[in-house]
Amino acid sequence: MQTPVDSKPDAVAAPSFAAMGLDPSVIQAIADRGYDNPTPIQEEAIPLILNGRDVIGASQTGTGKTAAFALPILTRLKDHGALRCLILEPVRELAQQVIDFLQSYGRGLNLRMSLLHGGVGYGRQLEELRAGPDIVVATPGRLLDHMGQGAVSLNKVDILVLDEADRMLDMGFIPDVRRIIGQCRKKRQSMLFSATIGPEIARIISWACKNPVQIAIGGGSSPAETVNHAIYPVDDRQKFDLLLALLEQIEFHSVIIFTRTKVGADIFARWLEAAGHPAVILHSNRSQRERDQALREFKSGKVEILVATDIVARGIDIRTVSHVINYDIPQHPGDYVHRIGRTGRMNNEGDAVTLYTAADKEFLRSIEQFIGREIEHKRLEGFDYNWSPVLEDEKTLPKRRNRGYSTASTINFRSKRRRR
Ligand code: AMP
Repeated sequence: MQTPVDSKPDAVAAPSFAAMGLDPSVIQAIADRGYDNPTPIQEEAIPLILNGRDVIGASQTGTGKTAAFALPILTRLKDHGALRCLILEPVRELAQQVIDFLQSYGRGLNLRMSLLHGGVGYGRQLEELRAGPDIVVATPGRLLDHMGQGAVSLNKVDILVLDEADRMLDMGFIPDVRRIIGQCRKKRQSMLFSATIGPEIARIISWACKNPVQIAIGGGSSPAETVNHAIYPVDDRQKFDLLLALLEQIEFHSVIIFTRTKVGADIFARWLEAAGHPAVILHSNRSQRERDQALREFKSGKVEILVATDIVARGIDIRTVSHVINYDIPQHPGDYVHRIGRTGRMNNEGDAVTLYTAADKEFLRSIEQFIGREIEHKRLEGFDYNWSPVLEDEKTLPKRRNRGYSTASTINFRSKRRRR
């Protein structure tokens, strides 16, 4: 694998989109969208992809990765022909997001696109396949179904994107991905994007890509710098009360609250509702219709709280998310980065709050190791804490109440939330 492309000298201004060789209609769409300059990953990836190079992108979440691969792909395909580009996504919502992006930026081109994912009927997908798409965006399971039924052939696919490869790995999709790639053209351009590139991802790269250029922006394990982090230690029995107190104090536009389990998310959302905080729910046991509706209501601001499991922690782009609350601490350190990456996107400020109980000690340690720094412990002013002995023993916690902590007022708990 080649070493990362040299970064540009400071004195040289970033190239504009117009100077990158993108199709004029794509440039127009970018201008209409109001993007002024390419982000660092776009600056590096777009020229390479336009040149037909294989690319590995290790990028922080929310850095403009979708445009980094989608804009040059649209430019390269340009006109209707055979099915030439396959983009694999681990979850349906991501696949939807990517095809929405392609359709919006490719509206001035003569290209057909098809979205294939599970949880919905086959009828419309078969119609789209019969119409002859140039690009398919798919989750692996449903694509294999269609392949098995002879509804789609990949033998002309010479542009392949494996997006969120680490998530595909976690979800056990790699054998499916291998089968799918085996049906694509051998002579092809491959791109792989992954927030983290560990040894297993490196193995996938070695069989899926040829002489790729690796682009690392910000390091996969570093969370966005615009996010303020805080740990709120609390006795397990007071967790929900503390969360309610937090919700009363923070000024949030939209907040994602992560729970560990699907059942937990359902119960938890009911508790919130009962406490006067309506919430929508997103996890993999919900029907596709429910998932779509939840995302719609949350994105539009109709409902301000989304309760979710890690399924939405990867890649889902909701720009307005002001706060991420880990009601349950993530068990895998990489998930911490992904979860909090839902806020602070594209240099917007965001707050990430993690409730922390005595049982979470090891998880916190591995998260801090992973992100390479300690997360500040805080206490919520005005909340009547009952510290458990185990929490009091923690070296990072105060020996007595009200000592050694930053208080809520010093972090981004900007003002008391007005009740409506
Ligand atoms: P992504 O990392 O692909 O999920 O993108 C995160 C967000 O950044 C999305 O809302 C994009 O629309 C937005 N975005 C992507 N590229 C740019 C850019 N060059 N300038 C401003 N916003 C961008």
